[in-house]
Parts: sequence; structure tokens; C-alpha cells
Amino acid sequence: MIKKFIRRILGQKQKVEDHTKPVTLGPKEHGIDPQLVSPNAVRVTQTLQEAGFRAFLVGGAVRDLLLGIKPKDFDIATDATPEQVKRLFRRAFIIGKRFQIVHVMFGQDLLEVTTFRGSSSEGAPKDEHGRVLRDNTFGEQHEDAVRRDFTINAMYYDPATQNVLDYHGGIADIRNKTLRIIGVPEARYREDPVRLLRVVRFAAKLNFTIDAATQAPIAVMAPLINNVPAARVFDEMLKLLMSGQALACLQQLRKEGLHHGLLPLLDVVLEQPLGEKFVRLALSSTDARIQQGKPVSPGFLFASLLWHQVVEKWTAYQAAGEYPIPALHLAADDVLNSQTEKLALQRKIASDMRDIWAMQPRFERRVGKSPYKLLEHLRLRAGYDFLLLRCASGEIDAELGEWWTAFIEADGAGREVLLAGKPKSGSETGPAKKRPRRRGGRGRQKDASLNEGGE
Ligand code: ATP
Ligand code: MG
Repeated sequence: MIKKFIRRILGQKQKVEDHTKPVTLGPKEHGIDPQLVSPNAVRVTQTLQEAGFRAFLVGGAVRDLLLGIKPKDFDIATDATPEQVKRLFRRAFIIGKRFQIVHVMFGQDLLEVTTFRGSSSEGAPKDEHGRVLRDNTFGEQHEDAVRRDFTINAMYYDPATQNVLDYHGGIADIRNKTLRIIGVPEARYREDPVRLLRVVRFAAKLNFTIDAATQAPIAVMAPLINNVPAARVFDEMLKLLMSGQALACLQQLRKEGLHHGLLPLLDVVLEQPLGEKFVRLALSSTDARIQQGKPVSPGFLFASLLWHQVVEKWTAYQAAGEYPIPALHLAADDVLNSQTEKLALQRKIASDMRDIWAMQPRFERRVGKSPYKLLEHLRLRAGYDFLLLRCASGEIDAELGEWWTAFIEADGAGREVLLAGKPKSGSETGPAKKRPRRRGGRGRQKDASLNEGGE
């Protein structure tokens, strides 16, 4: 039985050695549930096919369908040129200058249609490290397949015939839960070092094993990431952090030695016990939210990742004589300035991070109008969630978080009670301590009754 299974897999591998011809699998062999395919994706492939073109779902969508997961988006590959695609749909937009793709819209739904790419990377212009700079020729389907990153990301599904076309043994790798890069690993990483991050993301997200040859060059080639335009690294980092397995991804990044160039300060943070605990908590709560389908803000994520760096500088500025609030702003500036370049933090994200950080000392002012003002802050929820993380990590006293939880939930009178700092039982402790002195010690009895009667 096992022998037969192995033979089947090996047999399949031999068949796909010729990467210009696909292995075709019918619905019984691959088991894709057509219900998981978006009707709009079917509309697009159907329209293209009726106009005489070839059209398939491709990439992550096919991989997810084969794993029985509902894909979050659908990419389509076709032999029609972008102009030809655009003409077939009412709301279609050609995007990109160098390699054009078409965005086809149906209501809120966006489908990305890409013309098969040609395999011209040999002659394509490269930088001095071998990274491909421009590569924009159209080609055959098998050429398109060979340019994709992993075997499991290089399959094509035709919703009409329900056939899967597999050029690189992707089906076998899906079944073995193996992540395998197409072609010679070193060469593929050199062409595009972002693939180093993608390996980690897919391995952690899908819980796949990285094939030995795919894995081997990662640590050595890690520094190539520094060469990639920051905006691309940022996009890929964001995908990684929003994958629902951010914690696992980050652990794997560290294991592969890939985190150094990415968040230059993160390794320092992770080596401090408090920082590590904070990042861990932040990422596991992010993962939980994503797994529950709740939204996650990139600003909150990056604010968490870099918080302990801010704390360190905040403390240093205060030690140098700065007041707490300006010291925090200076610390935030320093951290944002040093990270913006590396991470290409978009302005909106950086400003969200600053808001979340700047709110933190305001939570400590529990007198007068301050807490009420904070309640009206547009980003209160994010700031408060952040405060709770600080409590949970042991950075600050849990009492502050509990107080704010109570304050946010309370009604008007309840808030007054909380502000007065009076324990709910109305006992004699708390602010009452101060009063006898102010009033010249004339009987606690009277004070207490005054407090009860008046506001
Ligand atoms: P996800 O579900 O996380 O979106 P995905 O596989 O769809 O995963 P995308 O980044 O959306 O990932 O890319 C779509 C497809 O484009 C991939 O499946 C792969 O075939 C191809 N691709 C993307 N990035 C690269 C790359 N850097 N090198 C080669 N092929 C790539
Ligand atoms: Mg995708």
C-alpha cells in the first residue's frame, strides 16, 4: 500500500520532469469543491473563454482550493493581452506601467487578470546582485508556470472543465505538505530576494515543511533582502504579519536568520524579556483576530512591534531631564525616522502608530476632564487595547487597565465614582485620607456624610 503510494508520487514526478507539458487532473483526482470558487471568478474565465481565449484560476487560489480552504482572492491567467481583456468587461482597468495587469471589478469584488508571462529572465536587466529589474514579456502557459515561486503556487484550474494543470509536481507537494521552490533555489532567490520571505510565510501559514534544497540557501542569502526596494519588503512583511500566523512566521524568520534586515530593532527587542513578552502577546492577539475574521490595523501591529524601542528611548530622554510627554514624542520621532526608511512605513500607518503611542501617558491622568477627553479620541479603542497589552506583559500595573475597562463600560455616575477613586463599597480608604488634614481634622464623620450627599 505504502509502496504503491510512493510509486504513484514518484511516477507523477517523472511525468512532470518535462515542465513544458502539464499533468492534467480531473475533478475526481484533485477533489476541488466548485462551491468554493467565487462566481465572479467563473464569470471572468467564462467570458474570456467565450471570446476564444484560454483562461484559468492560478496561484494562491488554486493552492487553497486544493487544500479545501476558501480562497480570499482569485487571480486569473490568460493568453489574452491586457487590451483584449479590458475590452471584454464593463469595469476593467489596466494597472501598471511595466508589466500590465487588468483589474476587473464586479461591485466590491476585484479580480486580477494577468497575461501569461514569458520566460525571459536570462536576458532581463538585473542589478549588481542579480536581482531582476524588469521582466515584462508575454509568453506561453508553461513559461508562466516556471516563473512562479513554488510548485504549489504554479497550478491552473479551469472552472469550465474542472481540470487542474500541474507543470511542476505541485499536487504531490500539496499532498506531502512540502514547500518547494521551482528551479534552482539560489538562482530564484537571487532573481527576487522577496521569495526568501515568502518561503517563511507559506511554511508557517500552511504548516508545510520546507524542502531541504529550498531551505539550504536561505540563511546565506538573507542579506540580499537589503537590496530590495523598501516598499516591496513592506508589502510582503505586512502579508506575513496579517497571515493569521504572524507569531509562527516571526519565529521562523528568526530561525532562518532573516529578521535582521527587516525590523532592525526587533532583534534587540526580542532579546529583552519584557519586549519579547509584549511582542508575543501582540502577535498572538492579532493572529486570533485574523482567524476570527476581525479587522486588524497595520498601525497597531507596527506600534506593538516597535513599542519597546520607544520605551527605551522614552526612558533615556526622561533621564536626560526631558518631561514625560515631550520625551515620548522625541522617542517616537527617533523610532519612526529610523524605521521609515527600512520599512517604507506609509504615512498613514506611521501617524496611527504615533497616535497609539501618544495616548499612553494620557491613560495615566485620571483626574478632572482628561479621561472624558480621551473617551472621545477617535483611536481610543486602539489605544486602550494597547494599554491592555502593556498591562498583560507586566510593563505596567494591571490596575490601570482594569480601571479603564471599568471607566469605559460605566455610566455617568459610575464614571464619577471611579474618578473620585472611591472603592465601590464606600469604605474609608482612598482619597478620604487627605481630607481630614485639609479640613483641620474636624471629624471624619462629617466629611464622609458630605461626600455622600453632594456631588
Ligand atoms: P496569498 O493567499 O497569501 O495571497 P498567493 O500565492 O496568492 O498567496 P500572492 O502574493 O497573491 O500570493 O501572489 C499570487 C501568485 O503570484 C503566487 O501564487 C505565485 O504564483 C506568483 N508570485 C507572487 N509573488 C511571486 C514572486 N515573488 N516570485 C514568483 N512568483 C510570485
Ligand atoms: Mg493572492
